Amino acid sequence: MEQELKSFLRISAHLRDLERNVPISEVIESGKVIDKLCLDVSENGMSREALETLLMDVVTHTPRTAGTAFFNQLFGGRRVEATLGELISVLLNNSMYTYKVGGAMIGVEKVMIQKIMSLIGFKKGNGTMAPGGSMTILMAMIMARDAADVGVRKLGITKEMVLYTSEESHYSVPKNASFIGVGRNQIRFIPANESGGMRVDLLEEAILEDRENNRLPFFINATLGTTVLGAVDPLKDIAAVAERNKVWLHVDGAYYGSLIFSKKYKHLTAGVSLADSFSINAHKMFGVPLSCSFIITKHQKALYDSFSNKADYLFQEDEDKDDYNPGKISMQCGRRNDALKFWTLWKAIGTKGLGDTVDHLFSMAEEARAYLASNEDYTLYSFEKSINLCFNYKGVEPRKLCAQLHHEGKLMVGYGAFKGQEFVRLPIVNANNTSEEIQAFFKLLETTAEDLL
Ligand SMILES: *Cc1c(COP(=O)(O)O)cnc(C)c1O
Repeated sequence: MEQELKSFLRISAHLRDLERNVPISEVIESGKVIDKLCLDVSENGMSREALETLLMDVVTHTPRTAGTAFFNQLFGGRRVEATLGELISVLLNNSMYTYKVGGAMIGVEKVMIQKIMSLIGFKKGNGTMAPGGSMTILMAMIMARDAADVGVRKLGITKEMVLYTSEESHYSVPKNASFIGVGRNQIRFIPANESGGMRVDLLEEAILEDRENNRLPFFINATLGTTVLGAVDPLKDIAAVAERNKVWLHVDGAYYGSLIFSKKYKHLTAGVSLADSFSINAHKMFGVPLSCSFIITKHQKALYDSFSNKADYLFQEDEDKDDYNPGKISMQCGRRNDALKFWTLWKAIGTKGLGDTVDHLFSMAEEARAYLASNEDYTLYSFEKSINLCFNYKGVEPRKLCAQLHHEGKLMVGYGAFKGQEFVRLPIVNANNTSEEIQAFFKLLETTAEDLL
């Protein structure tokens, strides 16, 4: 291992250089990447030295998400404390199903789940980690389905079950609806209001209409921080509708769930305590390595009801201590340790440090918004209290501009749309960034846009 660790240190030094000097990797046409970088595997192996050289080259041609030019998705940067935790969990390589195999790591996961529960005001409940935010929505949907019709686990779907989500919600909702046998046609996409939040009046209308037609409304997905605008659904009003109609309410906090840590911005999450389940990603605002996703429910038995299965070859000791055998409430069998990396960061900077991270992102976004609002060349589409800045520059087509920036090796940023209007979407989500770096982003974008005009 000694040699490999030395090799690792050399490769990480190489990556640091790249991040500083060549923030965007040179673009290779996708159809040519295998040949150009000699990626194909072969009959015979290669020497350690040759492998290191090859790895350096592969790293060189991989987009750098921790550099100063990556604004493409809702993650970015590197929180070194979290990276340390991740490296250790890779070395340990436990599987998070039983206390026997996971040991201390089961406790590491558990304290965070309990702390998140207390931050969102769930007095009791349960939770686990899943491979990504999309999977946490899937797990919530399954719990809701099984709670609405206890026969489903054995018989499959026998009723016409319906679910509700805003048209601005994450694209995994329709995928998950098809995975669980409910089907995409049984989704009611509720229109959003002008600020991107779900129209609660239309939500209740849709539920009542489905009830009248003998369908079974079973799941409402509310979004805390939509992917494009960073808008927040009116959680309290939605919770009242869910309560009146006895429908499971899930709050998808994959993006803005992190706000629960901030004294200053927690008010935006008001109403989350009324949900049946809640999900949160630590790999977005907190820069924890992908993926780091929690699903929490206030119904203590719900995860067991949907995900437990007898497996004598696996659960052999401490059968009575299910609380420390999380394999009984997870989707997978073998489950990687996604807990330690967030715990190391959390321990290092404290709950206050996590809150400060959120505040730092919002304050950079405020400054950037002020810049855009005061500059006549920009049209601004996003709203207050959002760290996603959506804008256009002098009528330059956003798709074209984003592609040009990428190909010139300047910036990776994407575009989005709201109610038919397309725009550049800049998420201020990399906590390593400074306001100066955000200013540099705009300058780069402006020069490229001017060239296109
Ligand atoms: C990112 C995101 C998801 C999906 O999370 P992944 O970890 O990427 O699967 C779901 N919902 C919202 C609102 C998101 O922003």
